[in-house]
Amino acid sequence: MSAVLIDGNALSRELRADVAMRAARLKARGVTPGLAVVLVGDNPASQVYVRNKVKACEDSGLHSVLEKYDADLSEAALLARVDALNNDPAIHGILVQLPLPAHIDAQKVIEAISPAKDVDGFHIASAGALMTGMPGFWPCTPYGCMKMLESIGYELKGKHAVVIGRSNIVGKPMALMLLQQNATVTICHSGTRDLGALTRQADVIVAAVGKRNVLTADMVKPGAVVIDVGMNRNDEGKLCGDVDFAGVREVAGWITPVPGGVGPMTITMLLVNTLEAAERGL
Ligand code: NAP
Repeated sequence: MSAVLIDGNALSRELRADVAMRAARLKARGVTPGLAVVLVGDNPASQVYVRNKVKACEDSGLHSVLEKYDADLSEAALLARVDALNNDPAIHGILVQLPLPAHIDAQKVIEAISPAKDVDGFHIASAGALMTGMPGFWPCTPYGCMKMLESIGYELKGKHAVVIGRSNIVGKPMALMLLQQNATVTICHSGTRDLGALTRQADVIVAAVGKRNVLTADMVKPGAVVIDVGMNRNDEGKLCGDVDFAGVREVAGWITPVPGGVGPMTITMLLVNTLEAAERGL
């Protein structure tokens, strides 16, 4: 039996329509939610990401500003720009596209963003808020994964969720969000022994590794939900995830595709966070 596809494009359209409606409501009250995207250098992938983010803002009626700087911009100059954006009332969300050039301390720049405008959810205050269950901005990718689980009406309470990957932007926040919904969570990483023995026990698997075929059909319990965060290229150069999609879809109950799964949800949750930043400021 083939798994039900969780369509990130369709869910994004729904959520973005809601963002557009709420943005129009704010505009009627004289506030246009605004996102500033800061790009330093000419990393080709980053250029595509920031273009997509700015376009998504425009399509949903949000104001967006793209600030592009040469790769030799000094750390002090970048910190000064962040400070100016922190104090700009037309800007509700600030996103500094990573990676930054090596001479800039990325963590220092993230910490310079006001937590009230940290729509990427990478600030240590946002991480602390998630950890303690306080209000704050959740990182967009795992937040999008949670929305996907919600969209299928999946009850996480008491379920065993296995997260593969422990990065600060995906794996760890993902585990905390699942825990907050009362799942029993296992976090796996490169030092995990016998990954398959753990994933075979899972009701929900989130793969966030960045390696093809980390999860194959023999590692999945029949009926499990499989969320594929990975973004890789296959031998033909096509985008693919961490999951052996063709094999796993025959075993899983639900599965997200790549492309068209978590990717569009990440940008959608950035819009949601920006809108909420503007709403909170009222
Ligand atoms: P990352 O910082 O490189 O983290 C990868 C994690 O995978 C690490 O925790 C690493 O363990 C673990 N790992 C590596 N090999 C493993 C193995 N064989 N078995 C189990 N765990 C293993 O990557 P990331 O930023 O979290 O991103 C993960 C993937 O998601 C990438 O493909 C990235 O492009 C993609 N991504 C997609 C979106 C989207 O919008 N769709 C957004 C963000 C990221 P250690 O900690 O032990 O090294």
